[in-house]
Amino acid sequence: MTAPPPSPLADLLRRRIADEGPLPLADWMALCLGHPQHGYYATRDPLGRAGDFVTAPEISQMFGEVLGLWAAAVWQQMGAPSSVRLVELGPGRGTMMADMLRAARVLPGFRAALRVHLVETSPVLAERQRESLGGAGVPVAWHRDLAEVPNDPAIIVANEFFDALPVHQAEKSRDGWHERRIGLDPDGGFVLTLGPADPKIAERVPEFWRIAPSGTVFEWRDEAPVAALAQRVARGGAALVIDYGHVDQGPGETLQAMRGHAFADPLAAPGEADLTAHVDFFALAATARAAGAAVHGPVGQASLLKDLGIEARAAALTAKNPERANEIDAALARLLDTTTKTGMGRLFKAIGLGDPALGPLPGLPAGLTTGPTETAP
Ligand code: SAH
Repeated sequence: MTAPPPSPLADLLRRRIADEGPLPLADWMALCLGHPQHGYYATRDPLGRAGDFVTAPEISQMFGEVLGLWAAAVWQQMGAPSSVRLVELGPGRGTMMADMLRAARVLPGFRAALRVHLVETSPVLAERQRESLGGAGVPVAWHRDLAEVPNDPAIIVANEFFDALPVHQAEKSRDGWHERRIGLDPDGGFVLTLGPADPKIAERVPEFWRIAPSGTVFEWRDEAPVAALAQRVARGGAALVIDYGHVDQGPGETLQAMRGHAFADPLAAPGEADLTAHVDFFALAATARAAGAAVHGPVGQASLLKDLGIEARAAALTAKNPERANEIDAALARLLDTTTKTGMGRLFKAIGLGDPALGPLPGLPAGLTTGPTETAP
């Protein structure tokens, strides 16, 4: 591959690979997205039409509004405490939180109890969040990690957060499983390489899949972020995680780069494209359960949003703003689309993690029934 255009991040990655050898894919992804000066999120607001991708809260205010109702219902299930933390992981432009807080006005006791905490590493997006939430009328604090949020009962939401966390990939060859790493070609371009056959890497592949043809790829994420989230809510509160991904665990690679709303080469321009990969909801549920949380769902996004009343909300919004009827209809159809595998209503899933004492969470059925299957994601 030809060398990418020079950039501070490409230079830094090239030097690091020259000094230390090929970089595990997860480290590559972490640096491309999260390098504090030159990473993708540190240097831009990637959302919206002028950016690289559009998320559900940016499609319609209805998305955040019904999640606000979800949070209010969970607060009631918690016994309507006089103080509760509402935490969002990776809040983007702050749009979803602003919409949630507006919807929360229907329950003044809930709004009065709220302390909002935003977990965000991007200074550019934190600034956008300050603009969106400046007039919200509730206390808002920013943190770089969930561990910094005071550890008491919390309602936690995350939309398109986990897909941005680094993935590891293992590739099977005749002599075993190898970690996928990023190396350098003679022209200074970045290329995919394989580490040595490694039994430790093989152990990360579910036993069911270890005997697989050469070329099979398996992807996974570190468990720590999900475990930390689950441990926290297991002691009081609940979390709602919405993301694109699969429930049936199996081999296959899903890492993708998006630039200007089109797919790009994940190695071509480090730090200039969004890198994400499917969330493995089976693995997420297993980690959360092991950490002591009750797991609810996952369900398709369409199912959650309909259950939370998004269609009634759309009708009310249209009645108030008849001139916006077409726009509201189109947004609703996009959020609820289950007609294709990539429709948002189907590709995106919602899973609830909660204090087992709370019982079922709004919009989510109890328990996950699927496991490793023979269908690739
Ligand atoms: N939830 C928003 C934004 C999704 S984009 C929406 O739906 O529109 C991913 C968000 O996660 C961005 O705000 C990004 O800056 C943030 N982010 C990515 N990695 C992070 C990390 N390790 N810790 C905290 N925030 C992170």
